[in-house]
Order: sequence, then C-alpha cells, then structure tokens
Amino acid sequence: MKQKNLVLTFVFAIAVLPLFASNPSDKTLSTKAVELVFPELPYAYNALEPTIDAKTMEIHYSKHHKAYYNNFLAAIKETPAANLDLKSIFAEISKQPAVVRNNGGGYYNHNLFWENMTAAKTAPSASLKAAIEKDFGSFDKFKEEFSGAAKKQFGSGWAWLVLGKDGKLFVSSTPNQDNPLMDVVEKKGTPLLALDVWEHAYYLKYQNLRADYVDNFWNIVNWDVVSKRFEKK
Ligand code: MN
Repeated sequence: MKQKNLVLTFVFAIAVLPLFASNPSDKTLSTKAVELVFPELPYAYNALEPTIDAKTMEIHYSKHHKAYYNNFLAAIKETPAANLDLKSIFAEISKQPAVVRNNGGGYYNHNLFWENMTAAKTAPSASLKAAIEKDFGSFDKFKEEFSGAAKKQFGSGWAWLVLGKDGKLFVSSTPNQDNPLMDVVEKKGTPLLALDVWEHAYYLKYQNLRADYVDNFWNIVNWDVVSKRFEKK
C-alpha cells in the first residue's frame, strides 16, 4: 500500500511538476541587462518545417535576433540601465532612447517567440483552456481574434495573447518591437503567446501572404510553454 502511494506520488510529480517549472525566458526578465545572454534556439533550423522553412529560421535567429541582442547591449553599456533588469527597463521604456526600446524589445520578443513554438503536438492546460473559453467565449473565437490581430497589424509588429493585471486574458498587437510589458503600450500585461509578423519572419516562404503564415502558426504553437507562462501568473 505504502509503495503504491509512493508510485502514485511519483507519477503525479512527473505529470504536474513541469507545469510549475519556469520557462528559460522568465529568468531573462529578472536578469541585469549587462548579464543577458544570447539564448540557444531550442530546436534545429528545420524543426518547424513546413510551417517555417530552415532558411528563414536561420537568418531570423542568427542575423536578426543576434543583431537586436548585440545592439541592445551596446546601447545600454555605460548607462544606468545596464544594471537594471529587463522587466524594470521595459516598465519605464518611455525614458529610454529608441535604440534601447527597439533592440531591447527585439531581443526579448524573439526569446518568447522561439520558446512558444515546437514541432511536437501540444495542448493548453485545463486551466488555460478554461480561462480562454471564459474570456473569449470559445477557443475558436480566441484563435479568430488572435489571427485577426496578426493579419491586421499594419507593417511590422507582433500579435499577443496577454494576461492582464485584472486576471483577464486579452489579444493585442504592437508595432515594431514593442511588447505588452512596456509602459508605452496601451494594453499592458504578461505576454503568454507571441507571433512575429515582420516580413523577415515569413517572406522567403510566404511572400506577401501573411494570412497563410498566421493560419499555419497554429500548427506549431507550444501550448506547454504558453500554459506554464499562464500557471505562473
Ligand atoms: Mn523577427
């Protein structure tokens, strides 16, 4: 009997504990800017094919993302912001020059984006699913709203699923490299799901067809990661 309980406890721990473990990007927010590292891509360049082709992934990660990281560190070095964590910098980003806002956002947003995609089949946790159904009416309505925000964002930017301070989920989009943690953004909160809709994210494969890229994105969302971001709230 005792042994059975032990086994059950073990099985429970294996099944539930990963939900409480943090995603690597969480640590990024509480790290001093000067100590930030350029993260490893959590999969191979071709891992998300056919939705995202290997060449796009390689250029996006090794050129675009790397440049945001390098430019951000160069911009904050020798300024008081160098010793602030990223979350504090974003919370008062209106006090920073554009180079910090654009590259700091570019660095962090891509960390979230790589992390919230996977080739594995995943599903939202029960509590995230329930919250989505409560706040959007249904899961399909949420997808429709998020896809709409991604497709309608004029020019370069991002679409987001965000947890607001009032505990309610909402969808938003931001221009350039802004994100929902920044004080300049109208609707603020904790980003749970990020989709990059800059042309550099899809143009090699999809050319002008951003809508197809957005529709295919649903095949590669890492709901395990999004659920962890939500459970952690
Ligand atoms: Mn990008």
